[in-house]
Amino acid sequence: MTARTRSVLIVGAGVAGMTAAIHLATAGMHVTVVEKDPLPGGRCGRFIRDGHRFDTGPTLFVMPLLYEAEFGALGVSVWDRLELRPVDPTYRLVFDDGSRLSLTSDMGAMREQLDAIEPGSFEGLQRYLKDAAPHYRVVAEKMVNREFRRPFDYLRIGALGLLARGNPLANHYRSTAAYFDEPRLKSAFTFQDLYVGLSPFDAPAILSLLSYTELAHGVWYPKGGMYSVVETLFDLARDAGVEFSFGSAVEQIETDADEATGARLLDGGKLTADVLLANADLPYVYERLLPPDEMARKLARKRFSCSAISFFWGLDRPYDDLPPHTLFLADDYRENFESIVRDHGLPANPGVYLHAPARVDDSAAPPGRDTVTAIVPVGHLSGGGQDWEERRDRAREQVLRRLRMLGITDLQDHIVFEEAYTPETWAVRHNLAKGATHGLSHTLTQMGYFRPRNRHRRYHNLYFAGASTHPGTGVPTAMASGRLAARRIVAELA
Ligand SMILES: Cc1cc2nc3c(=O)[nH]c(=O)nc-3n(C[C@H](O)[C@H](O)[C@H](O)COP(=O)(O)OP(=O)(O)OC[C@H]3O[C@@H](n4cnc5c(N)ncnc54)[C@H](O)[C@@H]3O)c2cc1C
Repeated sequence: MTARTRSVLIVGAGVAGMTAAIHLATAGMHVTVVEKDPLPGGRCGRFIRDGHRFDTGPTLFVMPLLYEAEFGALGVSVWDRLELRPVDPTYRLVFDDGSRLSLTSDMGAMREQLDAIEPGSFEGLQRYLKDAAPHYRVVAEKMVNREFRRPFDYLRIGALGLLARGNPLANHYRSTAAYFDEPRLKSAFTFQDLYVGLSPFDAPAILSLLSYTELAHGVWYPKGGMYSVVETLFDLARDAGVEFSFGSAVEQIETDADEATGARLLDGGKLTADVLLANADLPYVYERLLPPDEMARKLARKRFSCSAISFFWGLDRPYDDLPPHTLFLADDYRENFESIVRDHGLPANPGVYLHAPARVDDSAAPPGRDTVTAIVPVGHLSGGGQDWEERRDRAREQVLRRLRMLGITDLQDHIVFEEAYTPETWAVRHNLAKGATHGLSHTLTQMGYFRPRNRHRRYHNLYFAGASTHPGTGVPTAMASGRLAARRIVAELA
């Protein structure tokens, strides 16, 4: 039997699952995707209420070149399929003392702002970006693009010479001392580590690639919001002949001695296939869908990324002064991360991210109204003793306090409706272990070769794709994970 005649059952219509489905169907396989939700997308979700449109997970289209490569691998151009608009300034940063910094690729404007905060620091930024550029190239070209089946492959990355500059394995926050003295600038170019769920006090300096790509390649906004990425993948999958079954939750992946034989659904139905690919969050798959084994216990002991409390507000008036992305960074930056990562809590003076998509796409809110999302990073579920309702209410107060710093004092009076997600919501909504929004953490010992394999060791026809597998979290990265898993399946069945 050749790859062409095989059937594949994919558990989950997240970004990684759908990308894998398209590659596999294009290779001639018969692909069925079972998804517990009524719609595709998983964490890259959306809801629309009374004409207000919210992206529930991702709000930042960053690393456009990765999207370009992943859509290219699917045979289409991301620039043709999505109506992408640059967002510049990318963010407005607001510090505790009320000072502001608009991150922009306009280097003249950056010079003026940086030198006002710390004389000479623009030169530091130029060196920082120069050192970060090879970090970006190594990760985008060498790490995201391939699997690591042998430790040597991973270690060799460090020997590529590309990493010679900037000491990529040093502690990220500490390494910024070589470029800036001013703590506000150190935080301005390290907070992006949170995108992969990490504290800059734990992260390797290689993650400077994140602030580099934002300034070098831009932050973009797809018309219709991030969910338009999901809609595009869904269209491509259906065009390729992929079959979807929504509202079909898998209760168990069925196995015999050394292979997966199919899936038992919550409604009692059974499905069989030659090959299974699990896109649901990997630690959840091992813990809840597979027979208990040592790997499930090992995964539970690994480090997990942080989580978030998100507020989705429909407002009865527009707040035109709110740019698309605003980030409040706290002076007690280290304490903030310690309370998230070590204590799994809500910091006393948390950082806050605000997203006002109607500033860049007026279809996000009805005329005369506004759509605003506030995200407060918090720790993940830690197995008890966390009162998330109390934390949610405290987080809301902190967001409103921060808004007052901008002179916005009446927002709470204009909230027509609110939806709020806590780590408990993320856990239940998307079956995420510990409610960790970015899955397994991305420390050096949990990346590359050390990230869990995309094939089960014992059940040789059971594969994995998604944020907790290689390469890791993020929409384009999840696409890469789906592509790598599909490539392995096709190669192993050929
Ligand atoms: C709050 C938040 C903000 C983020 N911000 C950004 C950002 O700005 N930019 C960015 O690039 N990335 C961002 N991310 C990360 C990004 O959303 C994820 O890394 C990516 O969407 C993960 O896709 P995935 O396919 O791996 O997993 P998932 O989206 O989790 O897909 C798994 C799918 O499996 C389904 N499933 C689970 N269990 C079962 C079952 N038993 N039976 C059937 N189906 C099941 C789920 O419903 C889901 O559809 C953010 C994530 C969150 C949560």
